[in-house]
Amino acid sequence: MKILETDVAVISAGTAGLAATVAAAERGVKVIAFEKGSTTGGTANMGMGPFAVESRLQKIKNVSLTKEEAFKIFMDYTHWRVDARLVSEFINKSADTIAWLEEMGVEFYDVIAYIKGSHFTQHVVKPPVGGPGPRCASTMMKILTDRAIELGAQIFLNTPVKKIIKEDGRITGIIAEDSSGETIQANAKAVIIATGGFGDNPEWIKKYTGYEWGRNIFSVRVPGLVGEGIQMAWDVGAGREEMSMELTCSIPFSLDPEKGKVGPDISYAPFRHPNLMVNILGERFINEEVMGNPTFLGNAVSRQKGGCAFVILNEEIVKHYEQNGFDWLNIMNPVEKVENLTSIIEQACQENEHMFMADSLEELSDKTGINLAALKKTVDEYNKVCETGRDEIFYKNPKYLRPIKQPKYFAGRFYPTAYGSLGGIKINYKTEVLTEDHEVIPGLYAAGVDANAIYVDSYVFILPGNTMAFALNSGRIAGENAAEYIKSVK
Ligand SMILES: Cc1cc2nc3c(=O)[nH]c(=O)nc-3n(C[C@H](O)[C@H](O)[C@H](O)COP(=O)(O)OP(=O)(O)OC[C@H]3O[C@@H](n4cnc5c(N)ncnc54)[C@H](O)[C@@H]3O)c2cc1C
Repeated sequence: MKILETDVAVISAGTAGLAATVAAAERGVKVIAFEKGSTTGGTANMGMGPFAVESRLQKIKNVSLTKEEAFKIFMDYTHWRVDARLVSEFINKSADTIAWLEEMGVEFYDVIAYIKGSHFTQHVVKPPVGGPGPRCASTMMKILTDRAIELGAQIFLNTPVKKIIKEDGRITGIIAEDSSGETIQANAKAVIIATGGFGDNPEWIKKYTGYEWGRNIFSVRVPGLVGEGIQMAWDVGAGREEMSMELTCSIPFSLDPEKGKVGPDISYAPFRHPNLMVNILGERFINEEVMGNPTFLGNAVSRQKGGCAFVILNEEIVKHYEQNGFDWLNIMNPVEKVENLTSIIEQACQENEHMFMADSLEELSDKTGINLAALKKTVDEYNKVCETGRDEIFYKNPKYLRPIKQPKYFAGRFYPTAYGSLGGIKINYKTEVLTEDHEVIPGLYAAGVDANAIYVDSYVFILPGNTMAFALNSGRIAGENAAEYIKSVK
């Protein structure tokens, strides 16, 4: 067994793990980050950028949202069922964290309102080449990694932590295993947990959130995020905090290159707009404009029989999009018009088990399982609503009321999906880990989604960039507080 000595041991070099490593190392303490994977950066490598309020960029762009307003929005949204002090620390630090990243060399392309009706809070990282898009935040994670090394922190890759050591009521280190299988004991005065939740653990998803992966949720499974940090924290007496999924909603698509195309392509685009949506019973259940907020859509779809719902289009609507462009655009879906959209969808219907094409409502019902009698009734009623322009059930804006009269019909089956999991470890606003009885476990900190229970049941997508920012800010807070704490440890 190898024995190492350090001041702070950080469990991961992911989003929160790296922020914690840099923040602690900046304070002159010895830090070692133990990372299970073969690369640093964690899930942020897949994303675009973090939330902040009152940053330099927001001021330049005259974004008027203040910290006070963001805090009120947050607390109203969560009905004050979350740790308000933690929310406040997070929001108040967010602009400073953007400045901190900029000082290291991170550049931000723009600040955006990622989804319909959201605020301009997401700071999109500028990649060294090309424009913004998925994975551009990996540039930020590379810069954080370089900064950690420059400050003298050590990062051990392929070295999963297996256990946290607690002696005489306080944390004294960790046990890890290196790539050759050798056990490492790192004696540390403080330990920071940041292992990214349990999004790759279907058993836990079922046990703690009620969703069944592959049946009524098709969430992103970032390999290796199986809840190890949460379990290790519980094992040394940490309290539990509400656990949920960071819900969105989509037609499921493959993330496995061996199973066909990877990720959503343009064939999905027409289904993402506010046309008729029904459940398997054939009933409308939503103002389809709500699709603009994938978390709200995920909530509504979760409630339906079978946990799914269908967007129904006909050829006329697809042609309308072909000629006039889509209803909504955003940075991830910036394409305005697509030629040959009908044939693209037809092709996709043959390749994706969640996309359907039919020459009659009977055939559509046959293929999808939607109740035929109810579907016919709903389509009739919906077409009448389109004529009058008045949706007296869900009050949809008349400009999105397009009748579905003639075949060909297309349907896309939507399921809840998620970016990952949320919550598990109870912390306070200093990110100190608490017991069930709200006692601090001396020397133990947790950050990122392992400890992110600040949204309660529904991700605060109206303040976009939130989870990545919580990881960065809570990681930073943990690093700062751990460095301060160790001064008191002999
Ligand atoms: C496709 C996608 C796009 C996204 N885009 C955005 C976005 O633009 N903005 C936004 O706000 N959010 C976004 N998110 C969510 C956000 O990126 C994550 O919530 C955030 O990065 C999580 O940070 P974390 O530090 O908690 O975990 P992670 O960054 O996932 O880090 C966890 C790390 O822990 C390591 N680990 C696990 N177990 C162990 C162990 N036992 N020992 C040592 N290491 C271990 C893992 O290997 C990993 O490196 C996106 C998510 C996805 C999936």
